[in-house]
Amino acid sequence: MFGKSLIRSFIVYLLACSIVVTTGCNSDKTKRYTTHLIGYFDTVITLIGYCDQQKTFDRYVQMAEEEFSQLHQLCDRYHAYPDIANVRTINLNAGKQPVQVPEVLVELIQTALIWQEETEEGVNIALGSVLDIWHNYRTMGIADPGQAQLPALEDLTEADRHTDSQQIEINPAEKTVFLRETGMSLDLGALAKGYATERVAQKLIEAGWTSFAISSGGNVRTVGAPIGGDRNQWSIGIEDPNEDQNSDENALIDTVYLTDGSVVTSGDYQRYYTVNGKRYHHIIDPETLMPADHFRSVTIVTEDSGWADYLSTLLFVLPYDEGVIFAEENPDVDVLWVFSDGQTQMTDGMASRLKSMGAVPD
Ligand code: AMP
Ligand code: MG
Repeated sequence: MFGKSLIRSFIVYLLACSIVVTTGCNSDKTKRYTTHLIGYFDTVITLIGYCDQQKTFDRYVQMAEEEFSQLHQLCDRYHAYPDIANVRTINLNAGKQPVQVPEVLVELIQTALIWQEETEEGVNIALGSVLDIWHNYRTMGIADPGQAQLPALEDLTEADRHTDSQQIEINPAEKTVFLRETGMSLDLGALAKGYATERVAQKLIEAGWTSFAISSGGNVRTVGAPIGGDRNQWSIGIEDPNEDQNSDENALIDTVYLTDGSVVTSGDYQRYYTVNGKRYHHIIDPETLMPADHFRSVTIVTEDSGWADYLSTLLFVLPYDEGVIFAEENPDVDVLWVFSDGQTQMTDGMASRLKSMGAVPD
């Protein structure tokens, strides 16, 4: 479901661009290349970019795949991999001992904790024990919808006794992470994909690539502009949460035009199960320990894909007025909120980028 809707978003882009890539404004040799990476972050990752030759594109793809693969393994809570310590290893050693991990994982966790300090409470990377319970009930409920149940509040409350992110101890010099309390568990799902996408984008920029887009599970990062057509911006479709995401209809609520930035959506339609006709999804409000229920989806546009991913989850959890205050204080962050009744609200910056509001690509 996830991968299919992603590809649909990119088809919109492709439709837009395949029509317009006719006149070469750069080198005549520059062409558009596309590939899909499968097996990372439970999603299909699509890379689209402009290069002079296939060989150059293949080299960039290889760099991207190495990076995605490493970060996927490091952030994995459920699986072990040969010769690496990852989030699972950290969790298994909660209350026991610090775990030495690759520097990039230390940086990711440090960054998340800094963002948690800087923002309202809503995202907590130490919420793993609570998220695990929901994950188990969701998995069972999807496998056997007739028997789908809700977790007991007392079990959630008991698990929540081990979610204090102050108990994450990082030693940057030793590159170790230690969860001081037994029963604690990290879950980086709120930002890992976006963080990885940003890291890949930065590596590719360093390697000299000036025009590409990466789409990874609701996270799109664009660098530069499409080359050679009439349009100088990328078009990114935003899924309509009220449409059936599995249908073949074009279920988009709108299209964003941008260059050099990220578009990230969190929504209640991405991972969920149903109990007594009500949908219970994967983004949990740390206050209530229940799925947050203010919106169907929240879309963020800002440059850094990791920050955008963190914020999409945060603003999905925060009530609308708190999200509005955040957006007012952060003018480089554009937000689109979609409510249950299909109504939308957006920042002025978002409106200026949306097709439905009259924006046209440069
Ligand atoms: P996203 O789709 O980016 O909004 O991220 C959702 C994922 O983040 C979930 O699948 C969980 O792994 C994790 N998650 C859910 N709720 C929270 C929360 N309140 N704080 C931190 N992580 C969360
Ligand atoms: Mg997120």
